[in-house]
Amino acid sequence: MTGKRVAVLGAGAIGVCVALYLQRAGHDVVLVDQDEPGNGCTFGNAGLIQCASVVPVATPGIVRAVPRMLLDRTQPLHIRWRYLPSLAPYLLHFLRESRLSRVAANARALASIVPRAYDDYLPLIEAAGIGAMVRPSGELHVFETDAAFAAAKAGGFAIRRAHGVRVEELDGDAVRDLEPNLSPTVRHGLFLPDCYQTVNPRRFVAALCASFVASGGEFRRARVDDVEARNGGGVRIVTQGGNIEAATAVLAFGAFSGPLAKRLGTRVRLNSERGYHIMLPQPGVTLNRTVVSGEYRFALAPIDGNVRITGAAELARVGAPPDYSRARRLLPLARHLLPGLDDAGQTLWMGHRPSTPDSLPLLGRTRANPDVVFAFGHNHSGLTLGGTTGRLIADLVGGRAASVDLTPFSPTRFHD
Ligand SMILES: Cc1cc2nc3c(=O)[nH]c(=O)nc-3n(C[C@H](O)[C@H](O)[C@H](O)COP(=O)(O)OP(=O)(O)OC[C@H]3O[C@@H](n4cnc5c(N)ncnc54)[C@H](O)[C@@H]3O)c2cc1C
Repeated sequence: MTGKRVAVLGAGAIGVCVALYLQRAGHDVVLVDQDEPGNGCTFGNAGLIQCASVVPVATPGIVRAVPRMLLDRTQPLHIRWRYLPSLAPYLLHFLRESRLSRVAANARALASIVPRAYDDYLPLIEAAGIGAMVRPSGELHVFETDAAFAAAKAGGFAIRRAHGVRVEELDGDAVRDLEPNLSPTVRHGLFLPDCYQTVNPRRFVAALCASFVASGGEFRRARVDDVEARNGGGVRIVTQGGNIEAATAVLAFGAFSGPLAKRLGTRVRLNSERGYHIMLPQPGVTLNRTVVSGEYRFALAPIDGNVRITGAAELARVGAPPDYSRARRLLPLARHLLPGLDDAGQTLWMGHRPSTPDSLPLLGRTRANPDVVFAFGHNHSGLTLGGTTGRLIADLVGGRAASVDLTPFSPTRFHD
């Protein structure tokens, strides 16, 4: 082994892929998580590797939508009143990011990393022998009204096209050729061919982690309480199962990275944008690919051959209890779009998206402790960006020049 000892903290989509890329570069890697791999936010997502995700969450229309987000719990993104005081600094920053110039800069930054997402997964998928767990599926956005279709084309899809993302326009019949079970009320579709569906995001990430272990990597299940700088360089990871010494630590706790980042001397603007899913294990209808409702902003994803409804984003504090009634409201909307959908045996889930006001992850070393590398804050694209983040972080740890400009992703950008 010619590399150094590296501890990767967090075994979600991001941590597992970072560990694999570091291992491939010859480092001695220990991956630490308090839970089984892929059981955090990665567990319940829609399972898509979306090489078309170049649109930031904060866009110009969002300022006008804020009063509705506060007052109406049925909105696709809801803000809980009670948490408004603690969310205020994040929200103000988020609103600043909705200015046209910032939207353009953030979309440019996303477009510098997202289109490579699948290519960066490929070596990991091939080495793990799990090609059957992911397939080119595309992602289908459907519209029942001309107004929503026109707004989407003028908004997020115009940004995608400006960055070279392939978008195909479909009429209602062409939509139903792709997805025969969709409602006859669907009038238009926008199809993104460059998206890939995993069978189940948790199983996909767990299989990648198994390949890391099979190749000699160590997965240690323990809660991390602290990371300390060692005299003479390197870090000491303080866990409930004993200390781990390493030359470098990579922090990949997703939405839970903030407190440790702060203890390490770097304040970050990171929040949990909660998301919900309803898993329908006997849906009674089939779906070939993920379908997104253009009007109501929820998705129907084919997970393990069944249907997972995802949506109902919400800003609240990390520790706030889930509001599953918001998820349940998606059921009648989903049944309207996919008639015959059976909800027998449904299970509910809530997860914490690691969100930043500019929709960009934090990737890089911190000034406060150069032996700690940040790799969190992947917003709506953490599964998508696993492979790419792994490649970029392995280059950084190995002292190789980055293949993209990492300035927009600087971990210190919020408080420079
Ligand atoms: C409803 C929904 C749908 C989504 N759909 C998609 C999609 O289709 N495609 C996509 O790309 N993204 C999607 N996302 C976003 C994506 O799920 C996240 O961006 C991604 O899971 C973040 O991965 P992560 O590895 O950073 O965090 P996580 O998966 O949350 O992993 C963090 C890990 O850190 C561990 N951890 C935290 N604190 C400690 C500690 N103190 N000690 C030890 N371990 C600790 C946790 O146990 C966890 O395993 C969706 C999100 C939601 C909510």
